[in-house]
Amino acid sequence: MSVVAEYHESAAAAHAAHPDLPGGIIIGGPLVRAKQIESAILFGVFITGSIAGIAWAVTQGVGWIEWSLFALMYSVTTIGLGVTVHRMLVHRSFKCGTGVKFILCVMGQLACQGSLLKWVGNHRRHHLYADQVGDLHSPYVDGKGFAFTSKLKGWLHSNNGWLFDDTMTDNNVYAKDMLADPMVMMFTRTRWFWYFLSMVAIPGAWGYAFGGVHAMWGTILFAGFLRTYLSVMATASVNAVCHRGVGYRRFDDTKEASTNQLFMTLITFGEGLHNNHHRFPRDAYISHAWYEFDLNGLIIRGLEKLGLVYDVVGVSRPASGPQDR
Ligand SMILES: [Zn+2]
Ligand SMILES: [Zn+2]
Repeated sequence: MSVVAEYHESAAAAHAAHPDLPGGIIIGGPLVRAKQIESAILFGVFITGSIAGIAWAVTQGVGWIEWSLFALMYSVTTIGLGVTVHRMLVHRSFKCGTGVKFILCVMGQLACQGSLLKWVGNHRRHHLYADQVGDLHSPYVDGKGFAFTSKLKGWLHSNNGWLFDDTMTDNNVYAKDMLADPMVMMFTRTRWFWYFLSMVAIPGAWGYAFGGVHAMWGTILFAGFLRTYLSVMATASVNAVCHRGVGYRRFDDTKEASTNQLFMTLITFGEGLHNNHHRFPRDAYISHAWYEFDLNGLIIRGLEKLGLVYDVVGVSRPASGPQDR
């Protein structure tokens, strides 16, 4: 498509957006097309690889080699997403030295959920406009700010549909600090290398080392592709489940429809305590009861005790005290 045609297309798309749509949102044009293409490639790999992983498990069987790497990488990447990308980069819940930050960023980028830069910009925008015009993955409004006409459409959009729509977050508005962070930008530029490590190289090496060529293929398909897609779906489900009235609201004074949901909390290592999180977004530890198991928060507390992270936000805060948003 020519540059002029691109311009006309994006101008028409912008014109069709909700009149109250806030700034910092790119509509149409080459950047959005690049986002859609990247999403299509990534989900093409996830879905094809996962079907192959299920087929392998059914026809060839999987044993301790595949399951152990599945559990290890699921844990590493779920912690990387929750502790690193969400709590450290997006919400600045704690600080750490360069070496610790590098290791945490490796874990975060291995989660294969887009670049660190994009995740941060998108999630900050979500908090600012949660479930209102301007939210990018709400089950109530689409990327251009219009209400969904059915629950199914809202659910599909808030899961992974938003990754394919013709809008995207302008990181010059929402993630300026990340653009100025050389380490974050290094991971952003090399993201496909980390995806390859996570889905192919690490599982392949593990399988080959413990069981030879046959186990290598099984581990790549089952503990590489299928595990990655399941963890991506777990995170995406927080958008849908924890903004759709499923679960309970500990804090009813938040402006959006967030909830805590205990199954989501288990599979995301704490991120399903989403109402607690929207109420106190900068908290490093977001459990407010014994049954709210926030593993990611406990890990941050453990790292603090070991002296590996510092300036941890909110841990000594009274149960419902005031706090910056
Ligand atoms: Zn939310
Ligand atoms: Zn958040």
